[in-house]
Amino acid sequence: MNSGKRILTGVRPTGPLHLGHYAGAIESWLTLQHEHECFFLIADWQVSDHAGDLPRVRSAVWEVALDWLAAGLDAEKSSFVIESVVPEHAELAMWMAWYCSIGMLDRNPTLKAEMASIERPDDAATSGRSIPVAFYIYPMMQVADILLPRAELVPVGDNQLPHVELARETARRFNREVGPVFPEPQALVGRVPRLVGTDGQAKMGKSRGNTINLKDSADEVARKVRTMFAGPPRGAREPGIVADNPVFAYLDAFDAQPAEVMDLKERYQRSGVGNQELKDRLTGVLDSLLEPMRERRAGFERNMPWVRDVVEAGSKRERVLAAQTMALVRDALGLGYLRRS
Ligand code: ATP
Ligand code: MG
Repeated sequence: MNSGKRILTGVRPTGPLHLGHYAGAIESWLTLQHEHECFFLIADWQVSDHAGDLPRVRSAVWEVALDWLAAGLDAEKSSFVIESVVPEHAELAMWMAWYCSIGMLDRNPTLKAEMASIERPDDAATSGRSIPVAFYIYPMMQVADILLPRAELVPVGDNQLPHVELARETARRFNREVGPVFPEPQALVGRVPRLVGTDGQAKMGKSRGNTINLKDSADEVARKVRTMFAGPPRGAREPGIVADNPVFAYLDAFDAQPAEVMDLKERYQRSGVGNQELKDRLTGVLDSLLEPMRERRAGFERNMPWVRDVVEAGSKRERVLAAQTMALVRDALGLGYLRRS
């Protein structure tokens, strides 16, 4: 096992992964996996907003594992973990909930925004369901996910920062009031903290239908780019505002020739550049990024028994740490009721 720090991060199994995951999280994990002991979690306890579509969640568990492998994560060097396969996550979440006030959850801006979107009757993914208790407390699951392996670093997109802060506060409080068990985890935000959606919404998100997925075919990518939002309507020669056009956000995030992008921006602001030119460039850029992933993914898809085996092995590795942490936690809490001494 590698030296360095211990890392825990993850995603919710709600669908295939997209460019936002790549730029905001996975890209940095690809480097971190060589230097640190990494646990990559598929958080199947945190998707109660998708309780009405369990088949989607169950198959998304494997979509996520395949996307990670396709992107270049090494499941033998790092540990891929399914959250519910290690039940200590839930046990620790319940204890951690003792040390987190309702006020702290209510002030969490990410949770607030997500709950508002679930309640919105026109939300395509959740169709106006009421909010499950499990959704309200999912940040506690994240706190437990981070603290169970006693992780020191948590590489995430910026929308997850409030949850990491919650983990820090809860760990501090437990350490102070009960016993010194947990390191205080540090968040690490990726190169692109929040990638916009193809519809121009502030965040590309699996549940929002505004994604370009890592596994999308070349045709699919071309179609999505062709129809993506590219700023308010304007004539082909009319100067544009770079900040209003998400195509530039994607070029900034993925184009390997930043000097050419600078030049394009300059022309766009001066005399206008047709969106077609921008979009053609973007399609090419995304194809060179995604084509190697498609090829690797196809290889792993042909070898699902191996994929299952590495996920099982990763989950078992985490369970060993989970048992150690829970022994410390139970000891600190004085839970040895039945211990013969
Ligand atoms: P869902 O809509 O189902 O919540 P999601 O697309 O928001 O899905 P998550 O599983 O919630 O994805 O997030 C996994 C990780 O990817 C988190 O660290 C999150 O911050 C990061 N991430 C997700 N979307 C983006 C984005 N658009 N830009 C940057 N990082 C992102
Ligand atoms: Mg999310």
